[in-house]
Amino acid sequence: MPSKSAFTFLFSSMATVVVSILTIGALAISTTTPALAAAPIVGTQAPGFYRMMVGKFEVTVLSDGTHPFPVHKVLTQVVGEKGAVPLDQVAPGEADALLAESKLAVPVEGSINAFLVNTGSKLILIDSGAGSLYGDCCGHLIDNLKSAGYTPEQVDEIYLTHLHADHVGGIAPNGKVAFANAIVRVSQVDADYWLSDKNEQSAPKLLNSMFEGDKASLKPYIAAGKFKPFKYGEELSPGITPIASPGHTPGHSFFMVESEGEKMLMWGDVVHVAAVQFPNPSITLAYDSDAQMAESERETIFSDAARKGYWIGAAHISFPGAGHVSANGGHYYWIPANYDGSPAKN
Ligand SMILES: [Zn+2]
Repeated sequence: MPSKSAFTFLFSSMATVVVSILTIGALAISTTTPALAAAPIVGTQAPGFYRMMVGKFEVTVLSDGTHPFPVHKVLTQVVGEKGAVPLDQVAPGEADALLAESKLAVPVEGSINAFLVNTGSKLILIDSGAGSLYGDCCGHLIDNLKSAGYTPEQVDEIYLTHLHADHVGGIAPNGKVAFANAIVRVSQVDADYWLSDKNEQSAPKLLNSMFEGDKASLKPYIAAGKFKPFKYGEELSPGITPIASPGHTPGHSFFMVESEGEKMLMWGDVVHVAAVQFPNPSITLAYDSDAQMAESERETIFSDAARKGYWIGAAHISFPGAGHVSANGGHYYWIPANYDGSPAKN
């Protein structure tokens, strides 16, 4: 039987051999498997389009991009005779508290969405994004339209909910016509307001840039005889009807899209910060032409949409901005569309 010291020597020698083998093995692995290194971060999203059916109409939501929404700068609340006052003065901390309930904090990315409706006989774009007017964040609508399987030349008509930069800018990025075969339509009221030099001079400073953007975007369409403002009261094309909803702008319009008894209301700028304005619809926006009217419009349409259950297409609710309004115990909620991998199957 070996002595205790001989046994210890033998054991430690074996251990040394095992450790050496493991070390050599590890070195061999580390030199032959570089895939263990981290992959570079890609940092982009999938193309920004979302498809759904409304009856026999195919609706494709197109993302124009997102931008950090200046929550503290632009949220307001109407206070009696004083009119719209910055929310942070009326109710300090309310915006942050409501955002926190939705696990959000400033800065919050705000979506800019537009809606392409294929009625089977016409291709109609509702709103057009910001084009070149908001910088690099946005203006991705054309790329996303192409990714969605269409070309800008196929668009027959463009209906604008109103003439703010993030809705009209996409028709002519950098002043160049983007939709060669389309006519552009907006309410006569908004056209009269935003194309007036007199109104530009008397408008609040915050809105000044909107007038310049509108004129630059509409100019080539007006020159080509392709700008045709509408009056309310009749369909613009079979299944699409404009509805007056003044407040955010003087001639702001909803578009009710209806096919086979299914309805989707394209409601433009009813909501800018969903996490804040669904729980508190009285919160308004510095960009509202008439904040009090915008507030009452929002409360009326929340109630109507919750009661009747039609689809909503929202320009500034998180992409794709398609969903329903629900009411429970006097509170409103946004129910986003349930993802459907093959929407045209029905
Ligand atoms: Zn907008």
